[in-house]
Amino acid sequence: MMVMAELLDYSGHLSARIAPDRFLIPTRDASRAGITADDILIVDLDGKVLEGNRPCPTETQIHAGVYRARPDVKVVGHGHPPMSVLFTMVDRPMIAIRNFGYRFIGTPVHPDPTHIRTREQGDAVARTLGQCSCCLLRGHGSVIAANSVAEVFLDSLEMEENARSAVHAASLGPLKPITPGEAEQLKASYAKNDYRAVKIWEHYQEKARLAGLL
Ligand SMILES: [Zn+2]
Repeated sequence: MMVMAELLDYSGHLSARIAPDRFLIPTRDASRAGITADDILIVDLDGKVLEGNRPCPTETQIHAGVYRARPDVKVVGHGHPPMSVLFTMVDRPMIAIRNFGYRFIGTPVHPDPTHIRTREQGDAVARTLGQCSCCLLRGHGSVIAANSVAEVFLDSLEMEENARSAVHAASLGPLKPITPGEAEQLKASYAKNDYRAVKIWEHYQEKARLAGLL
């Protein structure tokens, strides 16, 4: 579904914590468009494969680093969403231009543009993420930390759609971003919409079924 919604391509990965000290993650080489249960590894918080005999993704430390630092996080997504990543290439913080974009105002940007391969780099990404639910990696991608796969899907979708809208709107004229005061109002009204992650998940699940993908 992430591939279908163009939130993941041939790389990037989701992981899910299944115990305090271990999580599921797909293998490095499996196509993201056709992952099956056989492509899923069990990995510990050092990034060591406990179950499965194929290599884990090069950037498993993104996930391990977030899980080490944030016991509250159950699911981590890492992708390379092209519109969102544009905001790491300019001296301009992420703005909200769509109403749902209020959650992404000032999304932190991790300065290290290289692949996150080591434990130290994973810890550094987790420090940039802090208590936020998402951050961006400069010239590279996104990290989303949430409680469920459906929430990671929602955040991935809305972050990219907000960024895409900003880029397109800028070609029409000066941008009119959501103001801090409006963001507060949106926070209050969206707080009543806790059904959204499931609603959007079900919509895309149905689309995937109609497309014969599920
Ligand atoms: Zn990456």
